[in-house]
Amino acid sequence: MPASQASAGHLLQLIRSGQATTRGELQQATGLSRSTVGHRLDQLFGAGWLRETSGAPGAAGNGAATSGRPSAHLEFDSSHAVVLAADLETRHAQAAVLDLTGRVLAQRAAPLLVADGPEQVLDTLARWFSPLLDEAGADAARVCGIGLSVPGPVDWATGRVVQPPIMPGWDQYPIPERLQHAYTRHVAPGGPPVPVLVDNDANLMAYAEQRHHFPDCAAFLLVKVSTGIGAGVVVDGELYRGIDGGAGDIGHIRLHDAPEELCMCGSYGCLAAVASGRALAGRLTAQGTPTTSGSDMRRHLAAGHPDAVRLAREAGQRVGEVLVTVVTMLNPGVLVLAGDLAGTPFLAGVRELLYQRAMPRTTAHLRVVTSQLGDQAALTGAGTTVVEHLYAPDRADARLAARDVG
Ligand SMILES: [Zn+2]
Repeated sequence: MPASQASAGHLLQLIRSGQATTRGELQQATGLSRSTVGHRLDQLFGAGWLRETSGAPGAAGNGAATSGRPSAHLEFDSSHAVVLAADLETRHAQAAVLDLTGRVLAQRAAPLLVADGPEQVLDTLARWFSPLLDEAGADAARVCGIGLSVPGPVDWATGRVVQPPIMPGWDQYPIPERLQHAYTRHVAPGGPPVPVLVDNDANLMAYAEQRHHFPDCAAFLLVKVSTGIGAGVVVDGELYRGIDGGAGDIGHIRLHDAPEELCMCGSYGCLAAVASGRALAGRLTAQGTPTTSGSDMRRHLAAGHPDAVRLAREAGQRVGEVLVTVVTMLNPGVLVLAGDLAGTPFLAGVRELLYQRAMPRTTAHLRVVTSQLGDQAALTGAGTTVVEHLYAPDRADARLAARDVG
């Protein structure tokens, strides 16, 4: 793109990323004239997306001149709108109101069965948003978008789940349209349609962890092990989804030595049939400790139940077997383990296998750690995805243009 074509959306991106935070720096970065920069900034100020701070707390260290009149610093006004986010698990869900930096303003969690089907579940989630907005002190007019995390493979372009093993009744269901509809009905009657973005939980968790805790890591991998097993890959700051959104769906890789283990997907011998929270709950139950779910497993692990600890370590080894190949392909700098099983025993099992079997060159600089965001990761990722989508240069320009027309 020739610099002279830098739009208001591009200026916003430079400001948000911290690459240019004064009018002078924006002129320098884009080659635009002072008056053109001023005109584009007026558009951004007009929309309420920017604010100006003199003295610029937080701008220290960027080499700003110390002599003369301090130039006003520009920053993204992360409080001008809010995002709604929901994280749907198999047996419970969370919903939240977040500001545009991903900070949670109000949140709730409650049991909600994904197996009740999309109609009922999406309607329930939409109903949760109204009291949450009240609690956050935000009205519906400030909602810029909704992000939803689901425990299944998603076609990113349509927001529909595709052949989800643990979401009965959801295959190809028009989630964005129906959530939008339910939201309008319960929260904002007569309001404009709000964009809804849907993605897979492991993807969103990976995106959130990378953005918020490992922003400098150019090859990043997160593996979630709860009821199922999935992975998210972030390369150069962007989620890598693959051609059909199937990248990272490692839970259904067949192991060579478990032909008798039936998986939720209908196949035998999948990694998830052997090493998921659901598989371990079944095994622990068979060994005399009734355990119904991955979250039950988590409770046993937290209590140090010896059988649970041993099973989690073994599951870590099984997942590690598959990750040897994944890590060799990606050569990531960070591998985050997340989900119900991701505690110390599981981590130890993964590490053991990786460092034993992967080439030293692919693991020399690899950090294998547990999740920093924990149960907030998918919610944060859902919110962050909406913000990055809506304020990306092209999209931001289109929204500014629509605003001028309206
Ligand atoms: Zn399977």
